[in-house]
Amino acid sequence: MPQSSRGGAAPVRLTVLGATGSIGTSTLDLVARSPERFDIVALTAHSNGEALAALARKHRAKRAVVADPGAYKVLKANLFGSGIEAAAGPQALVDAAGMPADCTMAAIVGAAGLAPTLAAVSQGRRIALANKECLVSAGGVFMAAVAASGAELLPVDSEHAGVFQALAGHDRTGVSRIVITASGGPFRTWSAERIAAATVADALKHPNWSMGRKITVDSATMMNKGLELIEAHHLFAIEPARLDAIVHPQSIVHALVEYIDGSVVAQLANPDMRAPIALALAWPARMSAPTPPLDLAKLATLTFEAPDLARFPALVIAKAALVRGPAATAVLNAANEVAVEAFLAGGLRVPQIALVVEQTLAHMDATATGLAAPKDLPAVLALDVEARRVAGQSVAALL
Ligand code: NAD
Ligand code: MG
Repeated sequence: MPQSSRGGAAPVRLTVLGATGSIGTSTLDLVARSPERFDIVALTAHSNGEALAALARKHRAKRAVVADPGAYKVLKANLFGSGIEAAAGPQALVDAAGMPADCTMAAIVGAAGLAPTLAAVSQGRRIALANKECLVSAGGVFMAAVAASGAELLPVDSEHAGVFQALAGHDRTGVSRIVITASGGPFRTWSAERIAAATVADALKHPNWSMGRKITVDSATMMNKGLELIEAHHLFAIEPARLDAIVHPQSIVHALVEYIDGSVVAQLANPDMRAPIALALAWPARMSAPTPPLDLAKLATLTFEAPDLARFPALVIAKAALVRGPAATAVLNAANEVAVEAFLAGGLRVPQIALVVEQTLAHMDATATGLAAPKDLPAVLALDVEARRVAGQSVAALL
């Protein structure tokens, strides 16, 4: 944290990409509880100009940016007289992410967050990474950009924040295995037939976490855990064979790091994203968060079970893509985004989400370019566009 001329800690200049979302608003909730710790630089959103303007006014941001140019008028009108700059469009998002900041909360959903998050990475400061799709889509390219700029990458995903804490202070050569937990989602105990008939409302009923729609559907298919294994591989430089996921319905233990002497270090907390967000904002210090204290005696029982790979094939497909390499994970991510959108729009069934991903991977594998590793951002984006086209065809054939 920078020092002020008075000798105390100067406020952290913070930008929030995806400020109107679940992670964005939780981040700003923490900021509102400790306003002296932060100066808000830029806040961004997709298209809700009114909500973004309200957040920008409340937190006295310097700039507010909507990705959708059609939302500019509403944003500008709602910022009238505030002195806050308004901008719109994909380039404006990238420009905002490049404004000098000590910390950027990367909380856009999907590969749409890639270009702005990389613009923030290029500043070489702290990135609090919630946007896991960045790593699934562009892992190697993303991590190379982090290394080149000297940025400090801190995980916001609760399981990865758990791993980060369980690894802290340990010699990495002593690590034998990393295990992340999964709640199992709303369909954990459902039969395959019942899952096949599930509605959008069923999939959006997450037992433990309140999150954005895309990640909530990903949790229902368990693709989220697959994406998280890929995320963990990049964040902690650990090979796929030493990475595992285990179902833990209470979502109290978030991650376990197993050491070669048989010792296991676990991280526990009540399921409230403000805990890992606070960690990423304050590390290596701690800041208080309103996460309810853990009462293990009251909880009494914590249970664990192996994931059922037959009912949740997305986990197998994601792990295979991880083993296959960066092109496969980029295609997996794009196809999953298309399939989840189609499911949310109505028409596609839950099991067809994994099917679309599988078909897209198989189709791309059989094409001339195949699944060659993308070497830079334009190559990742080209692969992403092509995979979305192929996945769109797969969806159309299923509807
Ligand atoms: P959300 O849908 O609630 O919010 C997404 C934010 O991104 C919104 O501000 C939205 O306006 C913006 N956005 C959406 N599409 C955009 C686009 N095309 N261009 C620019 N901005 C766009 O999602 P969320 O639940 O807050 O999740 C954000 C990210 O954090 C995801 O990658 C998710 O996987 C990850 N994450 C979320 C949680 C959680 O508890 N919500 C937990 C772990 C990880
Ligand atoms: Mg998670």
